[in-house]
Amino acid sequence: MDIDKIRKDFPILSRRVRGKPLVYLDNAATSQKPRAVIEALSNFYENTNANVHRGIHTLSEEATALYEEARKKVARFVHAPSPESVIFTRNTTESINLVAHAWGRKFINPGDEILLTGMEHHSNLVPWQILAQEKGAVLKFVEVRPDGTLNLEDLDRNAGPRTKLIAVTHVSNAIGTINPIRRFAQVAKSLGALLLVDAAQSVPHIPVDMRVLGCDFLAFSAHKMMGPTGVGVLIAHEEMLEKMSPFLGGGDMIREVWLEKATWNELPYKFEAGTPNFAGVAAFGAALDYLQGLGMDNVRAHEQELIGYALKSLLQIEGITIYGPMDSAQRSGVVSFNLGTIHPHDLGTVLDEDGIAVRAGHHCCQPLMRRLGINGTTRASVYVYNTKEEIDKFAKSLDRARTLFGVCAPSPTDRPAKPSAKKEGR
Ligand code: PLP
Repeated sequence: MDIDKIRKDFPILSRRVRGKPLVYLDNAATSQKPRAVIEALSNFYENTNANVHRGIHTLSEEATALYEEARKKVARFVHAPSPESVIFTRNTTESINLVAHAWGRKFINPGDEILLTGMEHHSNLVPWQILAQEKGAVLKFVEVRPDGTLNLEDLDRNAGPRTKLIAVTHVSNAIGTINPIRRFAQVAKSLGALLLVDAAQSVPHIPVDMRVLGCDFLAFSAHKMMGPTGVGVLIAHEEMLEKMSPFLGGGDMIREVWLEKATWNELPYKFEAGTPNFAGVAAFGAALDYLQGLGMDNVRAHEQELIGYALKSLLQIEGITIYGPMDSAQRSGVVSFNLGTIHPHDLGTVLDEDGIAVRAGHHCCQPLMRRLGINGTTRASVYVYNTKEEIDKFAKSLDRARTLFGVCAPSPTDRPAKPSAKKEGR
């Protein structure tokens, strides 16, 4: 891959921040967009804009064709069972909430168990807490080991005949661990339980084949994979979607409506109530084309090389603690760390002065932070357009911060969380 050529496709990468060339290392929060996606969005509004599925006029037909073509592209991208098994939502959070409502409320009973892990993003934890409270179900957990991998003995110990659902993140947004989903799928299958995979951090960065994963539900967000904001995906087998209750009620999701009752539309429309983000979905189609053109194997290989390089150079910095597996084969393009007693927000501020964008805080993973005995971390996350030179600038800026603050030995837990007005997470 010619990274310099790829970088030219992303207009934002040529801007400067605080007088320095932007080094964007906050890709786990949201990715940057290639010109092809930006143009697809503006082309849609300039030439095609009309509501989908409703009109008999040319614009509406063209808009519907783009919308449905994107659905087929999603299905091909992750080898979904069929285009009809692909539901467009707003984001990963909504996709998971859809399952909690439409499947959970119908099929979870008092005493049933939902097995999660200690490294879930809040969006794959809180919906299950709400459901469990409502239904009298029990949440169980696979805990995280000090090295940032999951303790698979917990999986064997805590999965049992009452387990109805296992919900696990494919890749940790906070520390980058790539989890062994096949192993979870085998356990779920042996128990007749369902498996939901939060793929928000995997589908954008590593090749994902739903058939190989063996999961029942797959959720991810377009904005983390070069697509626009406001588009998410939920994929499930059609037989499962048929059995589930609707999530939201309204236009498009119905077949026939009377004053007192209604019947539901066919799949996938049963789960797409109201006007969808059709312009965003059309542009998401362009993002999928772009990633397909690069090849997800190539994307992963580049990121693995970069993160291996980053781990090596960061380990040279005195006082640094890096979280998550140290083997780049087990880690996505995320490196999460603390530098001595420097608060992650302070570190983020110094990096920003050097034009470097990272994230600082608990990354919407408070239980994981507690487990690691910290309040938060600084997180750098790469994508296919990042370079080794940028990693060098990042390491140099960390060194500057170290000199500025003077790093001493105590761990960050010795320092209480700094009250902050900044919103943390993603
Ligand atoms: N799951 C993981 C692993 C994530 O990293 C994120 C976002 O950072 C989400 C879920 C939620 O994604 P969204 O905010 O797009 O709903």
